[in-house]
Amino acid sequence: ERLVTTGADERERAAESALRPHGLEEFVGQKVVREQLSLVLDAAKARQAPSDHVLFSGPPGLGKTTLAMIVASEMGAPLRQSSGPAIQHAGDLAAVLSSLDEGEVLFLDEIHRMARPAEEMLYIAMEDFRVDVVVGKGAGATAIPLELPKFTLVGATTRAGLLPAPLRDRFGFTGYLDFYTPEELVQVLRRSASLLGVQLTAEGAAEIGGRSRGTPRIANRLLRRVRDWAQVRGSGIVDRGAARAALEVYEVDERGLDRLDRAVLDALCRRFGGGPVGLSTLAVVVGEEAETVETVAEPFLVREGLLGRTPRGRIALPDTWAHLGLTPPRDAPA
Ligand code: ATP
Repeated sequence: ERLVTTGADERERAAESALRPHGLEEFVGQKVVREQLSLVLDAAKARQAPSDHVLFSGPPGLGKTTLAMIVASEMGAPLRQSSGPAIQHAGDLAAVLSSLDEGEVLFLDEIHRMARPAEEMLYIAMEDFRVDVVVGKGAGATAIPLELPKFTLVGATTRAGLLPAPLRDRFGFTGYLDFYTPEELVQVLRRSASLLGVQLTAEGAAEIGGRSRGTPRIANRLLRRVRDWAQVRGSGIVDRGAARAALEVYEVDERGLDRLDRAVLDALCRRFGGGPVGLSTLAVVVGEEAETVETVAEPFLVREGLLGRTPRGRIALPDTWAHLGLTPPRDAPA
């Protein structure tokens, strides 16, 4: 398991829940989304009505689930959680919707992965607070309308572009979450350290923040690992020395690249002279599945300007050579 992966398993989610901000004022960064969302929620509260449906879009680990929980707590409403992959039939969705209470917030994570017939049911439910339950089969089938309580849907997706337009249009507000700056990650780390009872110095926070790929989930995870190191091998204080030593053990470098990322860049530069080289060839050389390289390593490398994708294959960029401490050959692609 990679230390810098953006996803989280069940165990990690349990550890994360202790670190979740409970209100908008505690939520670090994402200033624009916070301001827009607070307007939407304040207006709904003033009208004493459930809020409009809200969609959060952005890469994993940036706080979509946290914001969904905040919507519920700011509205003083209970939260029901489900996810796109859990809804494979329209009936699954009908069961969830019909058990909601008035004003309840329904959080659907990975909403882009919901089954098509359920999606169509959701359009109507969002707009008219009604579902049509089909009884019987074939020519004798009849749709019985079922009134729903006024609920608020909070959807989360890593791929807003994959949502069909009719679904996207039914959200009153969409918040686009972006990667966090190193300064914002330092704030996240400070907050987490105080909740965990960890002594964290300014330099320690900066060191960890800089290696966290713009992602609070990764920042919190690295903090836990550095804390372990500090407790077992250090003085217990998470300072720059502890952060550097611990993250060296875990092979996370100063830009947040791990062994796989560096293997990809190393092969690209040393074996293929900076490319262009096809994805599958590159994957064979680093001993990984092409899909792993494409989905796990590449997005971050491309975003960092450390890898270029061209129709002829992957290429090294000036920063790639610099990061590896190599001089690019004169004919290297740029
Ligand atoms: P996924 O799409 O994988 O479910 P997500 O976008 O829903 O990810 P969260 O589960 O909300 O991400 O956040 C991951 C962790 O990062 C949580 O522990 C959360 O507390 C922390 N976190 C996220 N955003 C912030 C923030 N703005 N301020 C403080 N902590 C944050």
